[in-house]
Amino acid sequence: MTEGTATASPAGKCDGCGATDVPLMKISLGRDFFGRVYDRLSPSSDLSPKWYCERCSVEKNLQRDFRDIKGEFEKLTKGAASVLGQADQLERAKLRLKEIAAMLAVDALKPTLLKPEEVAALTRSLETRRTASIV
Ligand SMILES: [Zn+2]
Repeated sequence: MTEGTATASPAGKCDGCGATDVPLMKISLGRDFFGRVYDRLSPSSDLSPKWYCERCSVEKNLQRDFRDIKGEFEKLTKGAASVLGQADQLERAKLRLKEIAAMLAVDALKPTLLKPEEVAALTRSLETRRTASIV
């Protein structure tokens, strides 16, 4: 159950790690990793912006990209039309996953939203996919 608090005032704590005495910033989804505008009808995440401390906001962006890539990859594996069907987008997604993994590996970023092993697993899947698609 998410609380539908007013967007004007933060709850006073980070929605990621729960820190209270830190500067918070509002995260609202604009465009996804592939440059598409989010569907305004369905994702509730866009309708209820959350507040994050600086560290969590960085991680939130990583999480968003990870989720976009994962979603598209799932479509691809099901044989549905996917942005990742384009070689350049697939390459871009792979690079981004590497970036995400590298950032998660940095001590300063304590993963609360995104699990490094999930990123590693998706990276492996994408690598496998590329190898498989090369004839
Ligand atoms: Zn935080």
